[in-house]
Amino acid sequence: MNAMFPPAAPPLKRSDIPISIRFLKEDHPDVFWNLTTRTVDDALAILRQVRPTRVEWSYLENREIIQQIRQLVPVFVAALNSRDGHARSFSGDPVVAPWMRHFGTLDTRYLYQCQHNPDDFQMQVDRLAGFIRDGITSFHCDDWFTNPMMTYFRDPCFCEHCMREFSRYLGFPLDYHAYLRGRGFATVEEVMEGASRGAVPLWEDFMRFQRQTVRLYWRRIRKALDRLYPAGATLSVNDLASRESAEVVLPVLDYFDGEVSDISPNALLEIATASRECGKLQVVLITPDEKKGEDRNSEVWVNRVRQAITLSYCLGMVPLFPWDVYMRSDAQNRPKPRWFGTWEEYGAPFEVVREHPDWFDDFDFETMEEEKSGAVTVVARHRSRKRLRLEHRVGADGTWVTK
Ligand SMILES: [Zn+2]
Repeated sequence: MNAMFPPAAPPLKRSDIPISIRFLKEDHPDVFWNLTTRTVDDALAILRQVRPTRVEWSYLENREIIQQIRQLVPVFVAALNSRDGHARSFSGDPVVAPWMRHFGTLDTRYLYQCQHNPDDFQMQVDRLAGFIRDGITSFHCDDWFTNPMMTYFRDPCFCEHCMREFSRYLGFPLDYHAYLRGRGFATVEEVMEGASRGAVPLWEDFMRFQRQTVRLYWRRIRKALDRLYPAGATLSVNDLASRESAEVVLPVLDYFDGEVSDISPNALLEIATASRECGKLQVVLITPDEKKGEDRNSEVWVNRVRQAITLSYCLGMVPLFPWDVYMRSDAQNRPKPRWFGTWEEYGAPFEVVREHPDWFDDFDFETMEEEKSGAVTVVARHRSRKRLRLEHRVGADGTWVTK
């Protein structure tokens, strides 16, 4: 390896023990200040308890803090998102995602990027270059489905770059924004309402164009990344394995790292099956659906989560230790308090994995069966020595027996 390049991080494996340290008080851009509740000391304390093998998906920027973390954890995965994006609404205003309207302060909103804007692209490349220079070669992108996502939250990008590229995509000269205004659409609400009735000309083409945008964007990012770090940096995105995501992003992606709110055994089995079909590992960030007023330290909650962590491992996925977890927003789009699980609550399954890495790295799951009691049995078989089989039985309270 050229002395100019840092050594490559070890690739993700099924027996890894990941945790996500998202924000810390000593390092939080103002767009995140009201999401941040813990300090560097809190983070170092949990890292010493959990002894994770990876910190996945971290928004930390401060290199001294990152260095302190890297002294305890072999792999640090930096987040790629950037706040100063240049996406433009139908009105010409910057775009803010609904769930981000209460991040930070009114003057420091997290502005969405456009995947056609050259400055936004360069911002990401510069960010990658800076991290690589400082020895970090693993990356994660949260809002990776950027341009179609803006349409999902009913505020698609109509910036000049999108308009130029859409015209090129169609193969004839057209400023779609001016065209829609000429057809009487005055606001984005009118455009979206018309689209829902199939009354906006070329809308289906515009949707297909946006999906192509994501595909092309990630190929360009991968190319830039390979140029910056020819030994192979790793890239993950916030998603669960599925045919749809695979079609868009698979060739440039190393693994998925996505949020799971339905943590029932069957839902986990479905994700594990899709991950296997895609041939990409799945990190799972467990963010259970909450009932109003539910206590995150109650026995019911802890047992449910512990079972989901254990099952995820048995099904060949890699669950995060639940610390500093984003629990979505309330009805007014205000972020709910973050969730911090403790070692006492969730340490046990991770200790089993640390003791028996071969159960996960060398075996593939075959079947899963759920009993009326809520207990689940997973049968796994050795990848090459087919006569070797494991039977994991996971109780509804998360108790775990393997034979
Ligand atoms: Zn745009």
